[in-house]
Amino acid sequence: MSTPDQRKRYKAFWAKHAEVVKEWGKRGYCYPPPVYPAMPEDLRDLRCGAKTRAGTPCMLNSLYGNGRCKYHGGLSTGATSKEGKAKVAKNGFKQGWHKQSPCTVNNS
Ligand SMILES: [Zn+2]
Repeated sequence: MSTPDQRKRYKAFWAKHAEVVKEWGKRGYCYPPPVYPAMPEDLRDLRCGAKTRAGTPCMLNSLYGNGRCKYHGGLSTGATSKEGKAKVAKNGFKQGWHKQSPCTVNNS
């Protein structure tokens, strides 16, 4: 089971990990690889702990950097910026193809 303090430290750990990777990226990912900070023992096998629909705590231990599993906040919530939303709106659009309206479908 995870406490708020553990989740906070878990997030901080992965933020620091990302910093190390970013710094390595600045070096061009060249050899030798960086030495990553060791994960504290009590944060290993940390459980999600979110409240499930059944009312029990979630017991999944495959967590994202935010300390939650894929069902409880681990996945992307979608585009938030204006540019991102505009980009997403174009997904699935193919050049030269036009949307079929019900009128064109029925007339064929
Ligand atoms: Zn969960």
